Amino acid sequence: MKVSTLCLGSCTGCHISLLGLGEDLLPILSTAELIYSPVLVDVKKPGPTDLAIVEGAPRNEEDVERLGKLREKAKTVLALGSCASMGGITGLGNVASREEIKAEAYEEPDKDTPELRKRVYPIDHYVEVDWYLTGCPPPKKIIGEALTALLAGKEPPHYELPVCAECERRAELHIYEDLVRTIEKTPDAEECLLSQGYICLGSVTRGGCDANCTTAGVPCLGCRGPVDRVITEPGHGIFRDLVRRRAHLLGLDEKEVEDEVYDLVHTLYTFTLSSQVMRLKQSERVADEIYRVHLEPGEAI
Ligand code: SF4
Ligand code: SF4
Repeated sequence: MKVSTLCLGSCTGCHISLLGLGEDLLPILSTAELIYSPVLVDVKKPGPTDLAIVEGAPRNEEDVERLGKLREKAKTVLALGSCASMGGITGLGNVASREEIKAEAYEEPDKDTPELRKRVYPIDHYVEVDWYLTGCPPPKKIIGEALTALLAGKEPPHYELPVCAECERRAELHIYEDLVRTIEKTPDAEECLLSQGYICLGSVTRGGCDANCTTAGVPCLGCRGPVDRVITEPGHGIFRDLVRRRAHLLGLDEKEVEDEVYDLVHTLYTFTLSSQVMRLKQSERVADEIYRVHLEPGEAI
């Protein structure tokens, strides 16, 4: 099978995670011929390809053009990582205007620096996507599983359960705990972080990472993106479900929790702020964040 890879607006971390497979790449490469990959091989133009693996979200016109050209040549497109699938970290650019971003990044913007697109969208805003493999970056284990399946003409495994299902921490009911961050207090090693007052997105986030962060004492930031129920059911959302769970574990009124948690909007949507799914959920107030910054009157997001 002919395989191509492409990096758009991103950190190349998903490619690094792919290469992190190390020796486990050998059986994959025995069935795959890497014909185009600006990060890995010196070939200038994409040719006909069976599988195109795309990392990152388009941030300028050149990104959009390269993505479109690769899609034309590809039978199957895999969005690799959270930027390609949901906007991810690249999508956080939507909370600032282009002028603000350039002023922050450059003392004197170079005249040759490509102009940014006004807003960031995941790649399925521009082209059809066949498969999504979320994570920032996706753990090498699930990249290996997905590639092995796709190269054999099968569907990649689908991780439906949340991170909580892979986390060995014990949920406890408490009387009120203040919201707390790990730089303020070291968490207990065995108890659920949400029970202890930390904001942990494990209950609303797709598993598959073996709860790497929570096992190490770091709350889940949601890098694998929302679980199916958040995507498909109108009554569920990242904000909405987290409010319910914190209220339940700590014996609080949901209204009270809403106000506390809403201050942490960038924590809730670090990886999903520019995703269409979250934007269309009114209960999530994601659209408010984007409107607040730079939506012109009458402009759709
Ligand atoms: S909320 Fe976080 S710490 Fe608690 S069980 Fe779920 S993943 Fe583990
Ligand atoms: S625990 Fe959460 S933030 Fe950490 S790797 Fe898993 S999904 Fe990503």
